[in-house]
Amino acid sequence: MISKKMENMVANSSAIRAMFEEGNRLAKLYGPENVFDFSLGNPNVPAPEAVKKAIIDLVNEEDSLVLHGYTNSNAGYEDVRQAIAESLNERFGTAFSAKNITMTVGAAGGLNVILKTLLNPGDEVIVFAPYFGEYRSYVNNYDGVLVEISPNTVDFQPKLDEFEAKITEKTKAVIVNTPNNPTGVVYSEETIQKLAAILEKKQKEFGTDIYLISDEPYRELAYDGVEVPWLTNYYASTIVGYSYSKSLSLPGERIGYLVIPDEAADSENLISAANVATRILGFVNAPTLQQKVVARCLNEKTDLSFYNRNRETLYNGLLECGFECIKPEGAFYLFMKSPVEDEKAFCAAAKKYNILLVAGSSFGCPGYVRIAYCVAYDTIVNSLPKFKELAAEYR
Ligand code: PLP
Repeated sequence: MISKKMENMVANSSAIRAMFEEGNRLAKLYGPENVFDFSLGNPNVPAPEAVKKAIIDLVNEEDSLVLHGYTNSNAGYEDVRQAIAESLNERFGTAFSAKNITMTVGAAGGLNVILKTLLNPGDEVIVFAPYFGEYRSYVNNYDGVLVEISPNTVDFQPKLDEFEAKITEKTKAVIVNTPNNPTGVVYSEETIQKLAAILEKKQKEFGTDIYLISDEPYRELAYDGVEVPWLTNYYASTIVGYSYSKSLSLPGERIGYLVIPDEAADSENLISAANVATRILGFVNAPTLQQKVVARCLNEKTDLSFYNRNRETLYNGLLECGFECIKPEGAFYLFMKSPVEDEKAFCAAAKKYNILLVAGSSFGCPGYVRIAYCVAYDTIVNSLPKFKELAAEYR
């Protein structure tokens, strides 16, 4: 018998995954070119050539006992962490060194490591809807309590009044994700400044430490020159979770890192505990070959123009169909208002045209649907006449 906790987890298992499986089923039935699967955030831009070269060079050049061995520290190779720290310092004017970096098994691994490090049972973790639905499971893994701030559907910046009102003595962490999955919105500098000021005020009021966890797998995916604020520069107890899944199109390689700054409350203990958490969660260390690969590719970028073309074509096409949506500034998702309140019914209607969308309820924001546009350009172009037929059903 599986555990009660897992029984619930399985019952609530990710709707996104279910959609992905449905996409595969439809593709077999109708042919992949006739299915418009916008369900999963799996990059459709190949990893940069430099990644391939780094893998080949490393395998040829490095001692395989080192390259494929356990790392001395569970946090990862010292030289890799130092290289990442220096690269961040150059970009954001920070003063990190290897000790502030813990290599992780993607952003998901990093979030689990830091939540394991921080949470006592019953501790509250605040998230702003719409949010990445997996946060529910990650917080639940450590018996934390997820506290949702309702969505601001005007511009999808966080609702700060509600945020301030919902912080309690039990608030241990706040997770932000910008550029955001599912909206593509980048939280403005003004938002971040206000959010930081609220956290400072509440820490004083309650005499507690509240950690800001910045989950940023989409940091590099921002369009039209939009700046994504670097949060450790605004709030001392900020922990950054980064991933190469999207920025270098390496989601299956499971590689990323956490930044735990010296300025964060109880930093030394946090760093040691994150090391232990990496081990005892069973990761042991982040994949060693991939640590070395990303260290050689710190200045590499994905082809943003590919996603940008998709973004423009999809956004303009949907507006022409009469749908309501805000233009994404980053990531590769577009959040569209469902023409009917029950967005699950709308997703079902879309499926008749072989269009697969994810219901906003999965992100704590019913009434909307997420369209992941990290797909082939042809998929976008060929889907638009279908979206038009779908829209006509609601006139
Ligand atoms: N956080 C957000 C907001 C995501 O969208 C994703 C993946 O889609 C993750 C974390 C997990 O990413 P990773 O592949 O780095 O574990």
